[in-house]
Order: sequence, then C-alpha cells, then structure tokens
Amino acid sequence: MRYISTRGQAPELTFGEAMLTGLARDGGLYVPASVPTMTEAEIAALAGLPYEEVAYRVMAPFVAETFTEAELRGAIEAAYAGFGHIARAPLVQLGSGHFLLELFHGPTLAFKDFAMQIIGQLFQLALAKQDRRITIVGATSGDTGSAAIEAFRGLDNVDVFILFPHGRVSEVQRRQMTTPSEGNVHALAMDGTFDDCQNRLKDMFNHFEFRDAVGLAGVNSINWARVLAQVVYYFTAAVSLGAPGRKISFTVPTGNFGDIFAGFIAKQMGLPIDKLVVATNQNDILHRCLTSGRYEMEGVKPSISPSMDIQISSNFERALWFAYGGDGAAVAQLMEELKTKGGFAVSQGALEALRETYASGRVSEEETTDTIRTELARSGELLCPHSAVGVRVGNDHIAPPVPMVTLATAHPAKFPDAVEAATGIRPALPQRMADLFERPERVTRVANDLAALEALIDERRRK
Ligand SMILES: *Cc1c(COP(=O)(O)O)cnc(C)c1O
Repeated sequence: MRYISTRGQAPELTFGEAMLTGLARDGGLYVPASVPTMTEAEIAALAGLPYEEVAYRVMAPFVAETFTEAELRGAIEAAYAGFGHIARAPLVQLGSGHFLLELFHGPTLAFKDFAMQIIGQLFQLALAKQDRRITIVGATSGDTGSAAIEAFRGLDNVDVFILFPHGRVSEVQRRQMTTPSEGNVHALAMDGTFDDCQNRLKDMFNHFEFRDAVGLAGVNSINWARVLAQVVYYFTAAVSLGAPGRKISFTVPTGNFGDIFAGFIAKQMGLPIDKLVVATNQNDILHRCLTSGRYEMEGVKPSISPSMDIQISSNFERALWFAYGGDGAAVAQLMEELKTKGGFAVSQGALEALRETYASGRVSEEETTDTIRTELARSGELLCPHSAVGVRVGNDHIAPPVPMVTLATAHPAKFPDAVEAATGIRPALPQRMADLFERPERVTRVANDLAALEALIDERRRK
C-alpha cells in the first residue's frame, strides 16, 4: 500500500515512512492511494471478537509492507493493555436509538489514547529496526499532548516536546503533561492559542534544515497512523449494533477532524455508515463550511470544551481531497487561499460530495452545560463538555430506524470545573491517577517565536 500527499507534490511513501514523516514535504497530508475494502462477510465476522482482534483485521491491510503480523499483533496487545476497561471502547445506551461510545478508558482519559498508545509501540518498532533517533514535537489543545507524553515517556530513541497554549488547557490536562519525570519529556507552555502552537509546529516541518537536523517527527492528528487506529472503534460499535445488516450513524465532537475522518475511512472500507455528524462548539468553522460552502477563519473563542477550540481544522484537508476526487492541485490551491486570504469557497460538486457523508450542528456554551445537566437526569450518564456537545447534536440528528452512536471523547473528571458548574457534582479521577495534584510539575514557558523554539529543542534533545 502506497501513501500519497493531498497536495500531490510529495514522494509516495510506505506506511512506515508516512508514519515517521507526519506532514508531507509539499505541506499536504498523507492519504492511502486506494482504500482497502472489507466484504460484508468479513465485517459480519467481527461481531463478538475482542477489540484487539478487530484492530488487527482492520489495520493489517494498511500496514502490511511495514510490519509483520506478529509485530502488529504485539503492538496492539501492548497498546491497549493499560486501558481501564476490558471492552476498550464500551457502548452504553442513552435513550431510544441513541448510544454513547465511551472512548475515555485509556491512561490519559481521552480518546487520543487509542491512537497514541499504538503509535508509541509502532514508532519504537520502526526506529529500532533502523537504529534511528527522532525528536517528536507536538502541538496540543490539551489531550494530544498528555496522550503523546504517556505513549513515548522513557523510550530510548525518542525525545518528546509538547507545545500547549499557556493558560488555555484544564488543570488536569496541564498536570498530565507537566508531571511525568522522564528526561525525554519536555512540556512547553507557549504564549498564544492552540492555532498558534499548531502554526509554529507546521513552520518547523516546513523548515527542512531543522527538520532533518533533529529528525523531526509529528504525532499530531495529521499523522496517518493515528487516523488509522481510530477507524477500529467505528467497526466495533457498528457491528455490535447490527452492521453490516443495518446502517449506523455517528456523531463526533470535532476539532481537527481526525476522529470523524476515521469514520469516513471506515465507510470507504465498506462499513454501512449512514451519516457522520460533525458536532462543534462555538468555534464552528466546520459547521459553517458545511452549511454555506465557505471555509472562513475567525478568531478562536475559548470555551468549556477546549479540545475543540480551533479554527484551522487540519484533517479537513483529507476530506476535501476525497471530495475533490483526489485532485491534489485543487487542494493545494484551496490551502494557498486559506493562507493568503483566510478562507476559501468549496466548489459546488465537492460540497455536494461532502454533504452526502457529513451533516453538522453547533452547540453554544449554555446548551453544553444544559446537556450535561439534563443527560445526567435522563440517563445517569455524566458527560464531559466535549461529549455533551456531541450528545446534543446527536439527539438532533437521530433518524429512526438508524441507530445514532455519539462518541464520548473524554472522561468527565478531565474537565471537573465545567461538569461541577453544570451538575454540582465534582467527578473524581479514577484511582490510578488519584495523586495527580500532588505530583511536582516541570514546564518551560516559551514565546510564540519560531527561532527561539527551534534553538530550545535542539539544545534539550539527546544527541
Ligand atoms: C481532540 C479532542 C476532540 C477533537 O477531536 P479531533 O480529532 O481533533 O476532531 C474532541 N474531544 C476531545 C476530548 C478531544 O481531546
């Protein structure tokens, strides 16, 4: 299987190369040149299998050139062994026709662990084979950073630097990044927003001299290996609700479009997904784009669902590439307009293609709080604010007889202030991280300045 760039101007890579590279050299994102499909019988055979077995069957065709069966199976076993729930991604019922897919039983209590834990294992395998070292730099709105640190802490061939927007992540998120004591972990609190962090990261990737000198690698949600790992739970959830004999819809609290795009790949593989519903908070660029056809940047408005506080939704580029029929030149042109003019218009044909798969909804701050409160009363489920955004939009999009599955992307204890404000209940951290608030923090405050960041990273990395 070959991977090609959404902008059509970078070399084709294998899975392993695309994983270690992250962003393509033409600024694009890697996508599979063709998506492998599963037959109805193959999908039906997934029913009742352990999560790890489904993960193997779904991921294997994408990685076969890079990893053997034994390597992939070993990586999957190790990745999910530390989860706090044997089903890994359990499904609970909220109401008639509406289900919640709990993706918060990993070590950092957010769905990012599903991808990051296995990426840690796969990076380690690939680097050991090549006797290589790399420097991972990530930008985070909160959850990616802690998941990356958790996945890479203490690994021999990797140094990890995580940029997060100073003062704009929750205290639990910050402490999960600043309390690991391993010398290869560096938490950097940057002045600015998440988009600023993400932009500096992109600048580093486009600065080839630096990129090659430090062996820069990315694990942000643009990394294809992350998208792939997230495809798996669409299969486990859909099959347990009757797929392939029945269509299923999903609602996904969306920021960078990685999680929902994994659903699109599942659909391309043959899973009968009816609608993929984009749920946004007040930072609603995706909802506005799907509604109006114009993708237009506005300022970021901090919200109580901070992991979705973004205005540039990186993985949307992959969705556009499919909607434009794989036309890399057209995608490159849109991205150029975004950079120079702050927005672009999606062509009529591409907009229709997007609307065939995606629907969308936007949720205000008050509605988020209201949903946390009412859902606790209706079903007894305590939702994190991101999951509440999803549940609100999911409720609006239920179309019987198609079941709706809303993805619960974080544990409520990760956002205790918002949950307490809505319900009066302060959710407790699971036992295994109960001492988080007593552990010493280690963090470096940095300016939004590319040259200074690069100098710091080069100085601190192990050589
Ligand atoms: C990252 C994150 C999201 C957004 O996911 P994307 O893949 O960026 O769309 C939603 N909720 C939580 C809790 C997250 O950590």
